[in-house]
Amino acid sequence: MNTLKLKISPELPEMDKIARAAEFIKNGELVAFPTETVYGLGANALNPDAVKKIFQAKGRPQDNPLIVHVSSLEMAQNLVVEDINAYEIAHRLWPGPVTLIFHKRRSIPDVVTANLQTVGLRFPAHPIALRLIAASGVPIAAPSANLSGKPSPTEDWHVAEDLDGKVACIILGGKTLFGLESTIIDMTAEKPMLLRPGPVSPERLKTLLPELVISKAARAHGNYDGPPISPGMKYRHYSPDIELILVEGNPFDSFKTINEIASNSNRKVAILCSEETKELYKEKFDRVILGSRDDLYIVAANLFNALRELPNRGFKLLISETFPEKGIGFAIMNRLRKAAWKVVKD
Ligand code: AMP
Ligand code: MG
Repeated sequence: MNTLKLKISPELPEMDKIARAAEFIKNGELVAFPTETVYGLGANALNPDAVKKIFQAKGRPQDNPLIVHVSSLEMAQNLVVEDINAYEIAHRLWPGPVTLIFHKRRSIPDVVTANLQTVGLRFPAHPIALRLIAASGVPIAAPSANLSGKPSPTEDWHVAEDLDGKVACIILGGKTLFGLESTIIDMTAEKPMLLRPGPVSPERLKTLLPELVISKAARAHGNYDGPPISPGMKYRHYSPDIELILVEGNPFDSFKTINEIASNSNRKVAILCSEETKELYKEKFDRVILGSRDDLYIVAANLFNALRELPNRGFKLLISETFPEKGIGFAIMNRLRKAAWKVVKD
């Protein structure tokens, strides 16, 4: 398939290009597009044949439900059966990097939700995503625009690397803002439950949802052998192709363990660290600085790029320190624990 690549600037999204991309959605084809979290691979959520193409292009298991993207609260209301309280919460969190799970209406095909009677909805805060959905006139089902098993794409070239020739259109819209997937909250349980941490932190959510329960999966401590909390959760998310060891503990102590593991390995090693800790590691090891421990948004934005790029650059072993588990750091640690082949307690 010949993939049309449309370069669109988020600051000045040309409407003629958005209209071309929207035509593909209307015709049941796939369009990869930027959001403020990661790139999404979209199809008309109301067209089951179009949605099936997403699973084919990504190699995604059919029982992993998709998130449906809307460009207004009214569009969301037409897809779900929910009470006024839930809309009140949605109203306060949207548009933004938060997915809310509601009871679905029949208009949403089963293939979108992997036969669940609930649906994850998101109203993104990104000028290209919003205009694309509005111009298509339909909700857009979209998982992250990577091949299944690869890190979510945070740069347009990541999308091209994975999906060129497999989808009708890729919108090249630069680097995404947060670089981590959305926060997911299940609003259908007795108490709202955090299923996946993301850019909006638990601390912040609790000011709005004081009863919020943090699921075990959201903490990502240890491996889950128990029954999956939600269908998508049984998947390991992604893990790099090369070994990643996460050394838990305060890096100002655990740096010794990290140096030791690196010294004992005869593979090409990279250490994932921060501005503040980089000097603790021996110079002979490649140090990949994800950002400052004082600005975890930058660390989050750089994490997936590092996990995607480092294997391509010939590294055979990655060792990561931990990052403070507050704010977006909760989501960073969730992704690192899920990506790790091995977790070493210092
Ligand atoms: P992504 O692969 O980043 O698009 O995220 C999709 C994830 O959202 C899935 O893997 C599930 O974990 C979650 N999800 C989507 N819809 C639902 C739902 N109806 N119930 C529970 N989790 C869902
Ligand atoms: Mg994904």
